[in-house]
Amino acid sequence: MKIGVYPGSFDPITNGHIGILRRSVSLFDKVILLLAVNPNKKSAFSIEQRLSFMKEVAKGFPNVEVDFTEGLTIEYCRKVGAKHIIRGLRAVTDFEYEFQLAAANRYLSKDIDMVFFMAEEGSSFISSSTINELKKNGADISPLVPPIVNEAYDK
Ligand code: ADP
Repeated sequence: MKIGVYPGSFDPITNGHIGILRRSVSLFDKVILLLAVNPNKKSAFSIEQRLSFMKEVAKGFPNVEVDFTEGLTIEYCRKVGAKHIIRGLRAVTDFEYEFQLAAANRYLSKDIDMVFFMAEEGSSFISSSTINELKKNGADISPLVPPIVNEAYDK
């Protein structure tokens, strides 16, 4: 079975992430949406909340599962037998970061590769931190995130 792993902080998951997910699912038998927990990164939502949003999103796809890891994504891929890591690219600034990440992953494993999707037109400005900032300042973010995320801010 061909498995793709889409790792991220998903803090929270946005329509930008979902766009990448939607385009990746046809390439794999199964895609694992992986909450890759970075304990050094200050988060807006708890791990449990982020996972519950991700699980709600996964319900919309027949071949998407949700999981989380506190370790290296490469180790996780080895564990589940995945050969591809899915990531998205927005601006040139993403490229720098992703390029380094790809090189580090290559160092760790030569048989797990990264595949990239370019942000869709109109969604390249959507990042979790921008969403959090917009919401904090009272902007309407409902077209940019799944409903469960939008509702969570109001609770
Ligand atoms: P991380 O902290 O690992 O970068 P994120 O949740 O911020 O996790 O992002 C996960 C992946 O999704 C990254 O590769 C990021 O570039 C990509 N991504 C996030 N938002 C978008 C978007 N609007 N369009 C395309 N890719 C995106």
